[in-house]
Amino acid sequence: ACGGEGAGGATNETQSGNTTNSSENTSGEGKVVGVAMPEQTLQRWINDGNAVKEGLTELGYEVELQYGGNDIPTQQEQIDQMITKGVDVLIIASIDGASLSTQLDAAESAGIPVVAYDRLLTGNPNVDFYVTFDNGNVGVQQGTSLLQGLGILDADGNETGETGPFNVEFFAGSPDDNNAQFFFNGAISVLQPYLDSGTIVVKSGQTSFNQVATQGWDQARAQARMDDLVTANYRGSDKVHGILASNDALGRGAITSLQNSGYTLDDIPVVTGQDAEAASAKFIHEGWQYSTIFKDTRKLAAQSIVVAQDLLEGREPEANDTETYDNGEVVVPSYLLESDIVTKESLTSLLVDSGYYTQEQIESGS
Ligand code: BGC
Repeated sequence: ACGGEGAGGATNETQSGNTTNSSENTSGEGKVVGVAMPEQTLQRWINDGNAVKEGLTELGYEVELQYGGNDIPTQQEQIDQMITKGVDVLIIASIDGASLSTQLDAAESAGIPVVAYDRLLTGNPNVDFYVTFDNGNVGVQQGTSLLQGLGILDADGNETGETGPFNVEFFAGSPDDNNAQFFFNGAISVLQPYLDSGTIVVKSGQTSFNQVATQGWDQARAQARMDDLVTANYRGSDKVHGILASNDALGRGAITSLQNSGYTLDDIPVVTGQDAEAASAKFIHEGWQYSTIFKDTRKLAAQSIVVAQDLLEGREPEANDTETYDNGEVVVPSYLLESDIVTKESLTSLLVDSGYYTQEQIESGS
């Protein structure tokens, strides 16, 4: 598989397949790539935007990078303008995957190929390719690390015989993000047997995706919901033992709420996350958060560039999944990257040794 090992950036010297984007390659000259990113409150999208831009620029492309401020009309307008300007290819990380149909039709009419970046674009056939992580497996990793943190599974994933019961609450992502269901369903697939046996108890009774979803992946909303859950369900000696949080922002929202209601490092629940954001790496280092899922955005950026180049040069991009991502109109050929569970023990080996962060960044959280 190409693109997976080039952690240092997009100029992979060791490409398999037919691409030859070595450092002297300036095949991008004269071509413009439109890159639409959803928002800038999460560090990951800033990293993604920077990495895609840098990699393309090195190859000689001109890059039109825009952030949508988590506002759908803004993103629609940004993409409209890229199409009017005549970009040669579009790389889109959507805010709401179903909201860009007009833009996808316009891109098709103008002969502009479209790459869905990280999040699937849905409800329209004009999506050429999807580069992302194995989102279902991200959820499985989240569920698994929750069970490990609670001591129900050991480090190898074997049952320890621990039967709890443990009080757990769920925080899922935004309902307009196709990924959010994949993360949640993946996690529930490993938690379900323990819900059925009573080893895990959800005292709030809020167990369906719709009950636990967080519009806009908003940290403040997660914090407010945790406040409500504590008030309604966890008084006196009734404690929360675990939080399945679909990303780091949601996890930090829950942790902040619990800190405010008096939880300390001695009784903070096992909290999961995703994205390996610096602020959460710090929480993991300190013991406030148990785990996160590391999705190396440098690899995703590099892979999206390989795909965009293939499409521009008339080649069919290499897919490693052609079944999973049905967008309601077509099954979009996809390239899925792998992710890793990070806990306190693996912070250094996974995040520092790979050059993603320095030890100082982990300790300072920024
Ligand atoms: C991404 C996550 C991110 C979330 C919120 C998802 O689509 O896959 O990495 O945490 O959106 O931005």
